[in-house]
Amino acid sequence: MADNEFDFSAIETRLGVSRRTFLKFCTGVAASLGLGNNAAYAMAEAVADRKKRPPVIWLHGQECTGPTEALLRSEQPSLEHLILDLISLDYHQTLDAGAGHRVEEIKRHAMQEHKGKYLLVVEGAIPLAQNGIFCKIGGQTMTDATREAAEHAAAIVAYGSCASWGGVQSASPNPTGAVGAPQFLTDKTVVTIPGCPPNPANFIGTVLFFVTYGKLPPIDEKGRPKWAYGRLIHENCYRRPHFDAGRFATEFGDEGHRKGYCLYKLGCKGPETYNNCPSLEFNNVGGGVWPIGVGHPCFGCSEQGTGFHKALFSLSDVKTHTPPNAFPTIDAREGASSATVATAAVAGVAVGAALGASAVAGRKLGNRDADQE
Ligand code: SF4
Ligand code: SF4
Repeated sequence: MADNEFDFSAIETRLGVSRRTFLKFCTGVAASLGLGNNAAYAMAEAVADRKKRPPVIWLHGQECTGPTEALLRSEQPSLEHLILDLISLDYHQTLDAGAGHRVEEIKRHAMQEHKGKYLLVVEGAIPLAQNGIFCKIGGQTMTDATREAAEHAAAIVAYGSCASWGGVQSASPNPTGAVGAPQFLTDKTVVTIPGCPPNPANFIGTVLFFVTYGKLPPIDEKGRPKWAYGRLIHENCYRRPHFDAGRFATEFGDEGHRKGYCLYKLGCKGPETYNNCPSLEFNNVGGGVWPIGVGHPCFGCSEQGTGFHKALFSLSDVKTHTPPNAFPTIDAREGASSATVATAAVAGVAVGAALGASAVAGRKLGNRDADQE
C-alpha cells in the first residue's frame, strides 16, 4: 500500500506519536522479523483498526512488576500509548484502578465474553510447592489462576524471566518450587519474552505481529521469538574485537576497564546469552546505554540456567570461538571506513536507532584503539 493511501492522522491522535515515529517503529519490527515494507504497512493498518485490538488478561505471579514498569517507562515511541491502544487491557493487577472481588469478577466476565480470543500475558513465576500456597491472588493460587486463564486463551505470552523460566525465584534452593509458565502449562504453546527486565520493544513487536497476522511469530526451542533472541550478545557486542584480541578488563576501574576492553574476565555472560540488548539498548536514551555499554558485565538475565543460577563473576561458557567477520578489525584506526560496522548493525538491527548506535560504538572503538597506541 502506498504511503499516501493510508490515513495516519487517527494513529497520531490516538497514540500520541508522529506518523514518522510510528512508521519507523513498524518498519523496525518488520525488518527484524525479516519482513518487508508491506508488512510495516500491514502492521500500521492493524493498529489503526480498533476492532482488531485483542482483549488481554494479564496475570502477576511471583515477581517485582519490573516488566510492566519497564513497559510503562518507554518513551520513543510512546510505548505505553501503543500498548494501551494496541490491546484492550481487560485485567491487569498492577494497572487496574479497582481492586478486590469486583476486579476478579470483571476478569471472569472478560474471559467468558472473549472465550478463545483473548491474549493471556503471564508476568512472574508460578510456585508449585505445597499446592501453590506461596502466591495467591483474590484467594486463588497462581497455579489455579494460570490454568483457568490459559484454558480458553487464543495465545499465551510469558513476559519476563520469572514467567519464562522461574527467574530469581527459581534460584537454588528454590523453596517455593517456582517455575515459569512453559514449565507449568506443558500442554500449551507459550511464547517467552525473557529478560530482567525484558526489553519492552520485544513484547510490543510480538504483540504487533499477533494483532497483524492473528498468530504469534516463529519461536526457538525455548519459546523465544527468533527475531529478538536469535543471536548471542557476544556476537553483536561492540567490545568483541577486544575479546578476539585478548584485551580484557580484570578489575572494575583498572586500565582495561577504563579503556572499554572486553568484560569476559569480570564474568560477562554475553557469550552464552541470547538477547538483542546490544541493538535495542535500554531506556531510549541512546549512546550505548545498556549494561555492557556502561561497563558492567552481562549477567545472563534472560538465559535459563545462567541468570540467577551461575555466580556473577564466574567465567562464561564460550559457545562461539570464531570471530564474526562483520566487526571492525582489531587494528581498526580512528577515521577508518565504518562499512563493516554498519554491516554488523544491519545484521543485528531490531529498530532503526540501532544502526546509529552501533556505528557510534564502532567509532568509539576506533578512538580507543588510537588511545592505546
Ligand atoms: S564477553 Fe561480554 S563484553 Fe566481552 S565481547 Fe563478549 S559480550 Fe562483549
Ligand atoms: S545485557 Fe545481559 S543481563 Fe543485561 S539485560 Fe541484556 S541479557 Fe540481561
